[in-house]
Amino acid sequence: SHTVEILSVGTELLLGNIVNTDAQMLSQGLSALGLNVYYHTVVGDNPQRVRRAVDIARQRADIIITTGGLGPTCDDLTKNVLAQAFGKKLIYDEESARRIRSHFVRTGRPVTENIFQQAMLPEGCTIFSNDWGTAPGCAFQAEGVHVIMLPGPPSECGPMFQYRAAPYLRQLSEGVILSHTIKLFGIGEATVEARLREQMNAMTNPTLAPYAKEGECELRVTAKAAAPEEAQALLRPTVDQLKALFGSKVYGVDVPSIEAVVEDLLRQRGMTLGTAESCTGGLMAKRLTDVPGASQVFKGGVVSYTNEVKHGVLGVSQELLDRFGAVSAPVAQAMAQGARRVLGCDIALSSTGVAGPDRDDRGNEVGTMFVAIATADGTHVKQLHLGARPVRARLRTQTATHAFDLA
Ligand code: ATP
Ligand code: MG
Repeated sequence: SHTVEILSVGTELLLGNIVNTDAQMLSQGLSALGLNVYYHTVVGDNPQRVRRAVDIARQRADIIITTGGLGPTCDDLTKNVLAQAFGKKLIYDEESARRIRSHFVRTGRPVTENIFQQAMLPEGCTIFSNDWGTAPGCAFQAEGVHVIMLPGPPSECGPMFQYRAAPYLRQLSEGVILSHTIKLFGIGEATVEARLREQMNAMTNPTLAPYAKEGECELRVTAKAAAPEEAQALLRPTVDQLKALFGSKVYGVDVPSIEAVVEDLLRQRGMTLGTAESCTGGLMAKRLTDVPGASQVFKGGVVSYTNEVKHGVLGVSQELLDRFGAVSAPVAQAMAQGARRVLGCDIALSSTGVAGPDRDDRGNEVGTMFVAIATADGTHVKQLHLGARPVRARLRTQTATHAFDLA
């Protein structure tokens, strides 16, 4: 099967002036085509070093895709080096020259001699005309290697891949790679891995890989097949089996986030949501409003960081605050009830806790958190012991996630 190396040419990449988004885009596109990308290489605009990178790449990949360095300036040397490396001459292509000229005329730029350098292309190559810029790309096969050259600007590289290189590669590729991501909450990555280790090792197609993310866990199931339907048929039984295995710990498959799932469920039921936040300081509201279409569900939130606001705005009684302290189950519940009333929503979520760095004045340890939910049927509260090790930001994120999990 084919192996691909992406060779990005450009000194700005090495200097850290720009990020190699072309390689990211190409990797995504190539895996969708069922091609294995084994290496990303970045090299500056230097002919000797580009040549060395090509000589390494041709030993370990049979498809080399270059980005950048196709333009008209003297630092644009990709074609020269690649042609030389594979013993090809560069030949002036009339049709490309005509297109380059008309692109310059159309965009009102002066037609100078040097722009026609871009019409010099390796003999016998497949020319990828560039409808999104000037420099054409190209592909050729030599000495058992397919070489594809694409322009650097992402606005050109993207469509040149999609409409020119991808159709060319599709003839070479052996199928598609598809995956599903099962999202879990309330179970550690280590537990998940322990339960699945044997199965994971035994699987070849589909394959299974767990990922830990901010207190959450993801399981990615990936299948390779000749056609998408075939890949889906391979994936389905494993996805179903994992959903059954982890039961209520699964909050969704191929969903963006737990908050998006919560909002989706509420939208289906025509219900609204509000928040009352202390230790999370608005993070719950922020995450809820990051989801497109949040306004149909999320009414608003109160950041009641002080007792004054918990009492004055949310109506948490002074007696509760004095007796139990702000970090307590009764106050978390009263906050959620208060938010439900003040915001006029069907469901309210609250958070209160000690995010650190120090324990609070009642001696509650860092990581002591309460999340509560208030609905028409009453309130429910959960105490979390998240431990002092995670930093503030992680404690807050996890607390918010626990609150969404309640919903
Ligand atoms: P041009 O005709 O514009 O000169 P080119 O093919 O010669 O195109 P480069 O000169 O290497 O490409 O790069 C042009 C611009 O494209 C760079 O200044 C940079 O902004 C962007 N670019 C180049 N390579 C990449 C990359 N790998 N990822 C993201 N952006 C890139
Ligand atoms: Mg250039």
